Amino acid sequence: MINIQDLIRPTIKALKPYSSARDEFQGNSGDMVFLDANENPFENGVNRYPDPQQRTVKSLLSKIKDIPQQKILLGNGSDEVLDLIFRAFCEPNRDNIITLPPTYGMYSVLANINAIEIKSVQLDENFEPKVDEILKIADSNSKLLFLCSPNNPTGNSFKAKSIERLINGFNGIIVIDEAYIDFSKEESWASRLNEFPNLVVTQTLSKAYGMAGIRLGICYASEEIISVLNRIKPPYNVNELTQQKAISQLEQSELTQRQVSDILKERDALIGKLGTVNFISKIYPSDANFVLVKVDDATKRYNQLIEKGIVIRNRTTQPGCENCLRFTVGTSEENEKLIKTLLLISKS
Ligand SMILES: *Cc1c(COP(=O)(O)O)cnc(C)c1O
Repeated sequence: MINIQDLIRPTIKALKPYSSARDEFQGNSGDMVFLDANENPFENGVNRYPDPQQRTVKSLLSKIKDIPQQKILLGNGSDEVLDLIFRAFCEPNRDNIITLPPTYGMYSVLANINAIEIKSVQLDENFEPKVDEILKIADSNSKLLFLCSPNNPTGNSFKAKSIERLINGFNGIIVIDEAYIDFSKEESWASRLNEFPNLVVTQTLSKAYGMAGIRLGICYASEEIISVLNRIKPPYNVNELTQQKAISQLEQSELTQRQVSDILKERDALIGKLGTVNFISKIYPSDANFVLVKVDDATKRYNQLIEKGIVIRNRTTQPGCENCLRFTVGTSEENEKLIKTLLLISKS
């Protein structure tokens, strides 16, 4: 049985966290007089510090996702959440993490910022994890294993059996990045936190929920792990405007559901039409709101699209993604323009 306490950095274990004014008194009763935080008393909507524990946002997420509030931590985008996980578990110049390229670039950037070695095991030809190789490469300083599922930029979800074998076989923290889970046919691993004490699941409001601009990332984990991350997070890491906007959007979750199902219909229509473009040789299956394709010459096609006013992502330098382009699914008008332009440039 894995012991989370043994994985935490000694400095973090010993840390006495900053205690903010709103930590020491959590009143929300309207008739209290607040003279404790050196705020400007004149009301303008944001003159007070925000709730450091974002309780209203968490209670809505808790209902929507069916996870207890004590197992939720929120951050300034999932990028902040990932950084907190590094700082909690990875000792600079000693520990290492495992990533599975081609994948989201932030894991290795954060490792580099934090002076953590990166071990990587490339996904196989179907973009699935090589489970035995991953478990073999792990050593006693391997603290984090990042699984992005659905994976960016490939678009596929990993097989549940492989993920389960990795969680059971790895002696560190498994971070499953579910930025695209709301588009996926698979169930979130957050529903299985009770089975796996070393599991951390991250999600975001940046993709399906349509709020990339407010920067709100979500972490689901055991209460033990959440309490460690709470000790090191900046006290007011999610600002008041972000909390208010998140609350108003989460209260209309049917809107998000409708948009997600529209995007998925658009994605499938887009995939159908991409098949008619002669320089596209492969369309990878997608469980997300983007599609990866292989073309004859990715950089040439990328530049041609830019010239016609369409910005996509050239992924050709990623391992296993030679000559691959990634298209985000847009509105039906945008997707039509993309297809028309692809057909146009295919003749030049
Ligand atoms: C877009 C994306 C995120 C989102 O990060 P935020 O900081 O919450 O906007 C996280 N992980 C992956 C794999 C992504 O593609």
